[in-house]
Amino acid sequence: MTDTSNTIYDAIVVGSGMGGMTTAAMLACDRHRVLVLEASHVPGGCSSSYKRKGYIFESGATTLIGFDQHQPLKFLEEATGIKIPRVELSPSMTVHINGHTITRYKDRGKWVDEAVRVFGNEPGQRRFWEKALGVSDTVWKVSGRNRHFPPKSVKDWLRLAFTNNPFDAPVLRYAFKSVADVMKECGVDTPLFRRFVDQQLLITAQSVAADTPFLFGAAGLTYTNYSNYYVPGGLLNMVNAIRSYIEDRGGQVQTRSRVVKVEESMGGYSVITDKGVVFRAPVVIGNIPVWNAAGIMNGRMQPWFNRMSARYDEAWGAFTMGVVTTDAYADDLPIHHQLHAGHGISLPVTGAGSVFVSMSMRGDHARAPEGHRVLNISCHTDADKWFNLGDSYDKIREEAENEILGLLKEKLPGFTASEVLMSFSGTPVTWQNWVYRHKGRVGGLPQSMDRSLLDWTPARTPFPGLYLCGDTVYPGQGIPGVTLGGINVYYMIKQNHELKTNQS
Ligand SMILES: Cc1cc2nc3c(=O)[nH]c(=O)nc-3n(C[C@H](O)[C@H](O)[C@H](O)COP(=O)(O)OP(=O)(O)OC[C@H]3O[C@@H](n4cnc5c(N)ncnc54)[C@H](O)[C@@H]3O)c2cc1C
Repeated sequence: MTDTSNTIYDAIVVGSGMGGMTTAAMLACDRHRVLVLEASHVPGGCSSSYKRKGYIFESGATTLIGFDQHQPLKFLEEATGIKIPRVELSPSMTVHINGHTITRYKDRGKWVDEAVRVFGNEPGQRRFWEKALGVSDTVWKVSGRNRHFPPKSVKDWLRLAFTNNPFDAPVLRYAFKSVADVMKECGVDTPLFRRFVDQQLLITAQSVAADTPFLFGAAGLTYTNYSNYYVPGGLLNMVNAIRSYIEDRGGQVQTRSRVVKVEESMGGYSVITDKGVVFRAPVVIGNIPVWNAAGIMNGRMQPWFNRMSARYDEAWGAFTMGVVTTDAYADDLPIHHQLHAGHGISLPVTGAGSVFVSMSMRGDHARAPEGHRVLNISCHTDADKWFNLGDSYDKIREEAENEILGLLKEKLPGFTASEVLMSFSGTPVTWQNWVYRHKGRVGGLPQSMDRSLLDWTPARTPFPGLYLCGDTVYPGQGIPGVTLGGINVYYMIKQNHELKTNQS
């Protein structure tokens, strides 16, 4: 075992997902000595990229928002000066459902007109989307102001009372109403609109209209009405911009360093890697799912992590595909598409009601040469069913690939005219092996009407100096969600610890 106790870090981040990279960058901004330990050979976890046969594929996430007013990536850029390379998309997405192609325009007026065109009931649709956009704007504004949410102490509650505008309080009633309740109130709960909303919520809230509080669902449903971006060369370039910033300011990001044990020692923590190296710091941030954290925390921390892990024990798995085709797509074809399986139909093998397809941008030659396009495809699947399949695993995986390619042939404009040059897939088993997500669970905790607004895995644990961020911690999944969580953890650390700086 190599003991690096002579090298003093102020904070160690376990995992280099966007949540942990955000906290690390904010700490590096203040010149604290920060070390990020990442198990994989590249940083970024579910929002990263990888190369295969000369093409660049996204690891998971493909859509990117968060740079508008009150949103967390804007905050991160302004606080640190980091510039994330990006180009804005227009439109944000199209949805192919029951013979309709729905364009998700960013422009709010244009979007509501589009919703009316497809779903009818003009007054009802207008009311629904006005509410959703209004609630969403308030949620972004209020969530960026409340760094200690959910409150865990009297001080946190007092802070909530004093930092907030009482005029925003009425929005809280939507924590107790589901998206389906609001649809009914607006008279828009038709089978077609319900199906559209359910599948849009699955990709943003990991849940459906009946089980998603409108407070969170509104932000998920209007995702496309904020500025949506594409990162040329892949999302790894976003993560690398943050990595360079951390390293330029004296921090370190070490890949191929899997943490196998965290234990309390000398008023702080010892963090031990699979290579037997021991690092020490007074502050440790676990940017790994709570289920994974339970596997590495030792001593008196273990029972608490086991309890949290058992309490928040639900999440989806993903079946993903990487496909390369020749480029016979129309010039104006958007790059993000949600393809529905058909009314009331789920794909038989994956069980998905829809599939999400994101294409590399034409001309992004870092990802694919001229005349070729890379397609990243994902859908929800029950993670558990992919484990213990024994000898039938490969066959079932192939069947899943075929059902997805069949749907693309049927629904993705230009796909049949393009030749498939390469295709492969990843199941929840793959997800467990390459980004270590416990049981292949991705996307964070699904929203639920049974869980209160205050009921989340806490970012601040009962153990002084030990924090959590990432998509199993408030406010949950998605790049903007985990970035916000990472910023919140930074503020909690600043509030509770007197950290040294590498200039002191
Ligand atoms: C298929 C798919 C599509 C998605 N699409 C979108 C989208 O379009 N837009 C969007 O905003 N979000 C999307 N998401 C969600 C988003 O990608 C995630 O919620 C977010 O990236 C998770 O970030 P995180 O901070 O929780 O860390 P993670 O991304 O989970 O990263 C954790 C990191 O920790 C590392 N690690 C694990 N264990 C250890 C250990 N013991 N020691 C050291 N390192 C360890 C892992 O290798 C990983 O790099 C998608 C997710 C998936 C799976």
